[in-house]
Amino acid sequence: MLKDQDRIFTNIYGMHERTLAGARARGHWDGTADIIKKGRDWIIDQMKASGLRGRGGAGFPTGLKWSFMPKESDGRPAYLVINADESEPGTCKDREIMRHDPHTLIEGALIASFAMQAHTCYIYIRGEYIREREALQAAIDEAYDAGLLGKNAAKSGWDFDLFLHHGAGAYICGEETALIESLEGKKGMPRMKPPFPAGAGLYGCPTTVNNVESIAVVPTILRRGPEWFAGFGRPNNAGTKLFAISGHVNNPCVVEEAMSISFEELIEKHCGGIRGGWDNLLAVIPGGSSVPCVRGEKMRDAIMDFDYLRGELGSGLGTAAVIVMDKQTDIVKAIWRLSKFYKHESCGQCTPCREGTGWMMRVMERLVKGEANPEEIDMLWDVTKQVEGHTICALGDAAAWPIQGLIRNFRDVIEDRIKAQKTGRVSAVAAE
Ligand code: NAD
Ligand code: SF4
Repeated sequence: MLKDQDRIFTNIYGMHERTLAGARARGHWDGTADIIKKGRDWIIDQMKASGLRGRGGAGFPTGLKWSFMPKESDGRPAYLVINADESEPGTCKDREIMRHDPHTLIEGALIASFAMQAHTCYIYIRGEYIREREALQAAIDEAYDAGLLGKNAAKSGWDFDLFLHHGAGAYICGEETALIESLEGKKGMPRMKPPFPAGAGLYGCPTTVNNVESIAVVPTILRRGPEWFAGFGRPNNAGTKLFAISGHVNNPCVVEEAMSISFEELIEKHCGGIRGGWDNLLAVIPGGSSVPCVRGEKMRDAIMDFDYLRGELGSGLGTAAVIVMDKQTDIVKAIWRLSKFYKHESCGQCTPCREGTGWMMRVMERLVKGEANPEEIDMLWDVTKQVEGHTICALGDAAAWPIQGLIRNFRDVIEDRIKAQKTGRVSAVAAE
C-alpha cells in the first residue's frame, strides 16, 4: 500500500486548507522558479524518464506528447489546454483534485506550459462541475494576487496566463479535438487526426491537450525526481494513480495508490471489501465505461495497470474508474444503460457511430426485454465490429467495447435469459 509520504495529492479528502497558504504548507509552489530555470529540455527529459502515461484514459506517454510541440516558434503561439471535462461514467477523480487540491493543477499548468513554450493555458471544465470551478477560480485568483500567474509568473521569467472555460454538458467535448472546437466557440465535434493538436490545435496553433491529473502530478515528479515516480508500479506502468471506485463495495472512494496494485488489495484496503463478500462479485468495469467489463472471478488477482488489464483481460485501465457489480446486478441491463448513454452522446458526424450506436442500443433493449432471438447475439457482435475502428473519434469504440465485453464474458447469461423468457419462466424486464 502506498505510504502517506508518497502521496502527491495530500488533500484529496479535503481535510486541510485548499488555499494557497495551505498548499504551500504541504510543499506545493516550492522552488517552482528553480524548476523552470532548468529549461524546457530538462523538464521534458525528466517527464519522459518518469514514465508518466496520460491519466485521461488513453495512457499516451506524457513527456513524448510534450516533445511533439515545435522547438522553434514559427510565429504561431503555442497553447496548453487542460481537459477537465471529466464525463466518463464512473470517473470522478479530477473532481477531487480541483475541489480540494487546485494548486497542484495550477503549478503544473505553469511548468508544463513553460516546457511547451505556451504563454497561455485554458482549463476546459465540465459544465456540471460548479463547486469545482468555483474552487479552481478562487485558487487561480489567489495565484494571480500572489504573483504566481501573470507577468514573470512565480519569478520564473515566464509570462503566463491561465483561463478557466466552462463546458455545457456534452460528453463529446472531452474528446480533445471536440474540446478545441468548443473552446473556439464552435459546435463540439471531433476533428480528423492527423493532424494531431501539436501540429494544428487551438486556433490552428501548436497545442497540447492533457488531462487534469497528468498536469497536477508534474511539479511533484520534478521536485522528487523521475526515479522516485518510476519506482511505483511495473515497467511501462509507472507512478502513483488516482483510482475512483464505485458500485457494490462497502466503501466507495477515490484513492491515490501505487500503479499495479492488485485489485483485491485495492478493494480490501480502501473499500472495506465487496458488498456481500468476494463470492458475491459478478463483474467489474476496471477503467470507466469505455472499457469492456470483466467477470468477477478473473478480477480478484488482477494487476491494476494499463498492460495487465489490456493484455491479460482484454479490458483496460482507462481512467481507473473501477465500477464494481455484485450478483444482484442485472448485467445485461447495466450494459444496455451504457449503450443508451453512448447513443445519446454521439455527435452524429460519422455514419457508423450515428447509426451504429442506435442499432446497438435497440438490440440491447431487445435483450433486456426478452424479445430477442438467440441469433441476435451474433448480429449484435457484428454490429459492434462494424462500428469499432470505423469512426472519426474513440466514441464509436467506446460504445462498441462494453457490448463486446458483455458478449465475451456473459454470453451464458444472455442466452439463459432469452431461453427463460421464451419459455415464460421469467417475465420480461422493462428497459427504462
Ligand atoms: P488517443 O489514443 O487517440 O490519443 C491519446 C493522446 O495521444 C491524444 O492527446 C493524442 O493527440 C495523442 N496521440 C496519439 N497518437 C499520437 C500520434 N501519433 N502523434 C501525436 N499525438 C498522438 O485517445 P483519445 O481519443 O484522446 O482518448 C481516448 C480515451 O479517452 C479512452 O481510452 C477513454 O478511456 C478516455 N476517456 C476519458 C474520459 C474522461 O472523462 N476522462 C471521457 C471519455 C473518454
Ligand atoms: Fe461524432 Fe461518434 Fe463520429 Fe465521434 S465517432 S465524431 S462522436 S459521430
